[in-house]
Amino acid sequence: MGCGKPELLIWVLSILYLAWFSSGFNPVDNYRIACGSSANASVGSLVFIADDLASNFLSTPQDILAKAPLKSISSSEYSSLYQTARVFTGSSKYTFSISQIGRHWIRLYFYPFVYNSYNMSEATFAVSTQDHVLLNDFSVKNSFVSKEFSLNVTSNNLVITFTPFNNSIAFLNAIEVVSLPDGLITDDATTVNPSGRFLGLLPVALETVWRVNMGGPKVTFDNDTLWRTWIPDHSFLLQQSSVVDYSNTAAVNYVQGGATVDIAPVSVYGTATGMNSSGNPDVNFNVTWEFNVDPGFQYLVRFHFCDIVSTSLNQLYFDVYIDSWIVVKDLDLSTYLVNVLAAAYYMDFVTVLAVSNKLHVSIGPSTLPGAYPNAILNGLEIMKMNNSMGSLSAAASVMIPSDSSSKKNVGVMVGIGIGAFIAVIFAVLLFLLCRRRRKLALQGHTKTWVPLSITGGNSHSVGSKYSNGTTISAVSNLGYRIPFLAVQEATNNFDESWVIGIGGFGKVYKGVLNEDTKVAVKRGNPRSQQGLAEFQTEIEMLSQFRHRHLVSLIGYCDEKNEMILIYEYMENGTLKSHLYGSGLPSMSWKQRLEICIGSARGLHYLHTGYAKAVIHRDVKSANILLDENLMAKVADFGLSKTGPEIDQTHVSTAVKGSFGYLDPEYFRRQQLTEKSDVYSFGVVLFEVLCARPVIDPSLPREMVNLAEWAMKWQKKGQLEQIIDSTLAGKIRPDSLRKFGETAEKCLADYGVDRPSMGDVLWNLEYALQLQEAVIDVEPEENSTNMIGELSPQVNNFGNDTPSVSATQFEAGPVDDLSGVSMSRVFSQLVKSEGR
Ligand code: ATP
Repeated sequence: MGCGKPELLIWVLSILYLAWFSSGFNPVDNYRIACGSSANASVGSLVFIADDLASNFLSTPQDILAKAPLKSISSSEYSSLYQTARVFTGSSKYTFSISQIGRHWIRLYFYPFVYNSYNMSEATFAVSTQDHVLLNDFSVKNSFVSKEFSLNVTSNNLVITFTPFNNSIAFLNAIEVVSLPDGLITDDATTVNPSGRFLGLLPVALETVWRVNMGGPKVTFDNDTLWRTWIPDHSFLLQQSSVVDYSNTAAVNYVQGGATVDIAPVSVYGTATGMNSSGNPDVNFNVTWEFNVDPGFQYLVRFHFCDIVSTSLNQLYFDVYIDSWIVVKDLDLSTYLVNVLAAAYYMDFVTVLAVSNKLHVSIGPSTLPGAYPNAILNGLEIMKMNNSMGSLSAAASVMIPSDSSSKKNVGVMVGIGIGAFIAVIFAVLLFLLCRRRRKLALQGHTKTWVPLSITGGNSHSVGSKYSNGTTISAVSNLGYRIPFLAVQEATNNFDESWVIGIGGFGKVYKGVLNEDTKVAVKRGNPRSQQGLAEFQTEIEMLSQFRHRHLVSLIGYCDEKNEMILIYEYMENGTLKSHLYGSGLPSMSWKQRLEICIGSARGLHYLHTGYAKAVIHRDVKSANILLDENLMAKVADFGLSKTGPEIDQTHVSTAVKGSFGYLDPEYFRRQQLTEKSDVYSFGVVLFEVLCARPVIDPSLPREMVNLAEWAMKWQKKGQLEQIIDSTLAGKIRPDSLRKFGETAEKCLADYGVDRPSMGDVLWNLEYALQLQEAVIDVEPEENSTNMIGELSPQVNNFGNDTPSVSATQFEAGPVDDLSGVSMSRVFSQLVKSEGR
């Protein structure tokens, strides 16, 4: 029988097609190394080259090629890789030359054993690339572990660094670096809550956490064009009896616009787990799978669907859920993209930041009238997305300096071992330094400054880049960054009716994060005078300080050029609003004293609680917030500056702060010390006592400035004449005297004559005790008579002034300049001059 030309052509084409299909995808970059092995190692059709053939990829301080004592690993298809390993005694790098820019697999294989004095079960180490931390504080105990990452490589070299922790070692049995087909991971996905479009997946590093074949057996790497392994799903089901398995690989159609064989093989699309409705058209339940995940990360969840169940179009409608959110409603696979039965599809979703260590995926019947209760899922992949630090590891960590040979190197993260070690050293140093400073202060020495960096050893500056090229610093071990979507959800999409205040930075919204955490969300106005610099300062400052009298920063969001700060919610708003102008009930003297004491504590901590003093620079009653128990917390660190360096006594700076509170010495000399905060706090003390704005232009001239006016009465020894009328008869004179003296000292002309915040705190506590009458003092010091009814002056403010009642102090916002920050006023002046 002859073979004509057309037949020959078809035959050749068939052979070529079969050859192409059986070999699958042909990666441009294709590195596989059997570490520590003197010979090539085969895993199915894959060849991992002998270690010595790969020696030019590796730079390591010591060549340690380890051989497992027994050939005992037989239960893994990768067992040939687990017979040998490389041991790294110091930081070691594999450098792979990359021919095709784009997404690559990095697969790492680990099986620990003892070799000479190296016990790999005790190894703790980090693995990182130029841009991402893949593993941190990582160890493997007596089992084999393989890790799969996929990341977008944008340079000609991919450098993978192994960093042992604290006198430990690192090890590796095998490594794969393989380029992936374009389009395996696209840039966009659907967000889970609220449902929307997620753009920006391309640069994200992913770690495959789970890859599951629903309703079928394990799919091994040699049955997958990209050498993936798919594990069966039943062990993840919450209720195994609620499902039925389907299998029909012959039915699978790869259609244009749907999945390709590289997305998932026929063996995945050809099987499915479905609802076991037992022929009952009235059943209504969901099939749910539960997966362990690391909280604090977002996940890319990829669903694989193929309707191998229906016998005709439009038979199957169902809903799909991630956790409690419905992500697809009334899904009809037969008409999803084209009218083809059993077309293979995938759908990508990006989850909200996981708050628990379980992620649930469910399918359930549609509520469409007449829809038969059924639902199916064919395959599922769950991939962890790198966090704002570029890390895929949740381990607390610190950055160590990056490799200077790589421009893009953001440094190597080493984990908790080194982190904890540095933290302990740091804490001990701090403790010793604080003790020393306290001792010196007690001995009357002049203050010296400790030259430690405010950012300490645990911050770095990766994170989102702004269009102007600046970067945000964030503390690496706190993971403060909150996705924009979560902020939108927390504030009901920045609902105007949720606005609780407007400051120089922008609007402040009330919000609820993670269902039950009340937060205040400050959204930076892009045109705000208090711009990026303040945003960064606030994050840096609040990241460093945790104190019950400082408002905590819960997170920030810098996505899409936004500048959003998220704080703990302070139920009772500002101290200022409780003093005047808002109609809130008047507070008792004791409550006011406790608030002053709390704020003084917060400021005292800022000034002394860290190696270097932090100067708030905008102390005012609007920046003292009150929680649900009226406990005071100091807020708004946007203007803060760290104190002077050693051998200096001040920081030179452009004047910032708020009118009415500003230290005149600072204003004159533009030299900042923490005594400027003491001055402003003195003004707050008088504000608390008199319950009036610190600047009130509507008043007669000598009364406009509270500090000047109150000092006048204090110096005359008649402070009781100007106190808040609601406190009349309720303050013990000795408590008032102590309070007045303290405020007066704070307002001394020269910083050197002002007390420290510690002294202020002590005096205020004393004033409280005097009010509570628990102190034995000299009779002349402690008259327990209450201050009598206010003299006419209180209501007249002196004989030479027109009659102004106390309530008239509640000036409207136009007249109240006390909360207006200097930068805003100056900018107004500049603007009006320009007109
Ligand atoms: P400026 O920014 O000019 O100094 P400000 O300090 O009043 O002015 P913001 O700090 O932006 O401005 O605050 C504006 C208002 O938002 C506050 O007066 C307060 O009512 C409210 N607010 C701010 N932070 C919180 C919070 N954590 N909890 C509750 N309310 C808050």
